[in-house]
Amino acid sequence: MTTLAERTAAGSVAVALVVLALKAGGWWLTGSVALFADALESVVNVAAAAAALAAVRYSNLPADANHPYGHTKAEYFSAVLEGALIVAAAAMILREAWDAWQHLRVPVFSLSGLVIAGLATVLNAIWAVVLTRRGRSVRSPALLADARHLWSDVVTSMGVLIGVGLVFATGIPWFDPLLAAITAANILLSGWRLMRSSVGGLMDEAVPPDLLARIRAAVSVHAEGALEAHDLRTRHAGRLTFIEFHLVVPGEMKVVEAHAICDRIEAALKAELETAVITIHVEPEVKAKGQGVPVL
Ligand code: ZN
Ligand code: ZN
Repeated sequence: MTTLAERTAAGSVAVALVVLALKAGGWWLTGSVALFADALESVVNVAAAAAALAAVRYSNLPADANHPYGHTKAEYFSAVLEGALIVAAAAMILREAWDAWQHLRVPVFSLSGLVIAGLATVLNAIWAVVLTRRGRSVRSPALLADARHLWSDVVTSMGVLIGVGLVFATGIPWFDPLLAAITAANILLSGWRLMRSSVGGLMDEAVPPDLLARIRAAVSVHAEGALEAHDLRTRHAGRLTFIEFHLVVPGEMKVVEAHAICDRIEAALKAELETAVITIHVEPEVKAKGQGVPVL
């Protein structure tokens, strides 16, 4: 059975291959270093999309004895790998740009070369929109990382196309390697952002403040019968969000009653956040801290 995330990741591989072929054609027709830089970016995309496909497939496996919390963090590995590939591509482009800088020449004018490269960019833009939408709907960091990456590609490619057009129009040769270097810098920046967000997931970063506020509100409103909740902790693992906290109830309350409160809160949290995994530790009032989440 294939999921939407899997089909999307497979689509990314296909799009990246077509875009690579088109951009390589544009480079071949013109010999422009800037277009070479743009094409190399697509080699990274093919590798990264394939890695993402493998990761999404793995992250969808249900929890097992070996990985009782599930496999959702696998997605972060593909994002970190993608970041590393981006850095490698940027280094290659910089080397090529330096070489071209030392042996300046104007690329060969080719209208079809520009049109082909432009087509690749349009294709990338369309796919970036699809990826963003699907990544949000299935809460997949790998797909969203891919989408952000593609957007930065689209921006870079447009800059490159305009720039190469200017090189042809003005005949200034150093413009081409300069553009390639700017492309490399932009690629590096997107790699950094990608690694940053994935490392956050691997490091068990808490949910964003607005979501945390919604979680606190849901606990507060649905904990009637309890005294307080404290030590609320959250973390992300791919599409899953883990929530845990202590729930203080009157010491003489029956276990069935305390459990009923827990079930109510869990249902409320799941209504707020479908992918929540909740653990509640019940305590008697001597454990109250007088702070944390008050019960409304
Ligand atoms: Zn406690
Ligand atoms: Zn239970």
